Amino acid sequence: MNIFSCTQAEYVQQIYDRLGKGKRHAALLYSQWFKQGIVNPLIWAEPQAMPLVEEMWKGTEKVLPPVVSEQRDGSTVKFLLKMSDGLETESVLIPMQAGVTLCISSQVGCRMGCTFCETGRMGLLRSLSVAEIISQVFVARFVVNSPVRNIVFMGMGEPFDNYENVMQAIHILTDAGGFAIGPSRLTVSTSGCVEEIYRFMREADPAVNLAVSINAPTEELRTKIMPVNRKWSLAELRKALIDYCAHPRREILIEYVLLKDLNDSLTCADQLAELLQGMRVRVNLIPYNAQRKSRFEPPEENVQKAFAERLVERGYQVLLRHHKGRGIRAACGQLGNKEKRKEWFQKDEMLNSEAHS
Ligand code: SF4
Repeated sequence: MNIFSCTQAEYVQQIYDRLGKGKRHAALLYSQWFKQGIVNPLIWAEPQAMPLVEEMWKGTEKVLPPVVSEQRDGSTVKFLLKMSDGLETESVLIPMQAGVTLCISSQVGCRMGCTFCETGRMGLLRSLSVAEIISQVFVARFVVNSPVRNIVFMGMGEPFDNYENVMQAIHILTDAGGFAIGPSRLTVSTSGCVEEIYRFMREADPAVNLAVSINAPTEELRTKIMPVNRKWSLAELRKALIDYCAHPRREILIEYVLLKDLNDSLTCADQLAELLQGMRVRVNLIPYNAQRKSRFEPPEENVQKAFAERLVERGYQVLLRHHKGRGIRAACGQLGNKEKRKEWFQKDEMLNSEAHS
């Protein structure tokens, strides 16, 4: 039984199934572990209960993946955890006005193939287990010692391509007996998986936030940079997002990566404004983070500002994001396992030299 994959109720039930007793102590043990990052039963267990608590703790799997790298750029921190199969997850702590936001991964790599995204270039290596997702939060809180306030599923991977595990992770994170993170402090970001958006609508607490990477205001352009648009068109996505907003508590965070001379014109801003009509949204504009050997570039600052101002004129709430963590390749679209990235670039170089020979 891995404590990082269960809610408190599930943990207590499993202990009871194994030992036939100990429900109260199991609940206290779980709470102390997730609230304080330690277990010290001397505080809450009677001396005669100590052997029982020891037995339940001994039978509980709680091994954390080791932190293999911790890099800082100002107050942004990126840390890598090494999984038992040698693959690494990347998580980033970003200081924001409202407190620290932890950006976590749901997969190693990603199969959605967005052309501007470094993780997308890696392809999907595998989805993370619930324990591997929760470990990132536990390490951020109790190993890196960061006072995490908000959690966003915006690291490596498409969270809705690992739907079941992400939903179980949300249950664990919001469990009052454990981390007790308010649902409104969680955000799940998707590239536009329409089926799962409907499922999320039915199954998730309405306070959990949804972010959607739009990145292009027309079908043609979106298909060009986001292959997911072939499966679920912008028209289908728009309908799903309007349906999503039918619930009065729901609002969507729209993410739009600004790519020079591709989706950064005022015409694109107007088309985007039209596309978002009828939805309750906030728009997050993210100037592209220049990557090695990339064919994309960020627009000039005045172009970024003009795009943002046009959306504001059209009545939208807009945030033009600064590049936090660019120095440690922790900025949006830059997460990706170093070795895999190296392999990819070697492959890319081979292909280029073949193409040019
Ligand atoms: S932007 Fe998100 S969905 Fe697209 S390839 Fe990158 S990680 Fe995957």
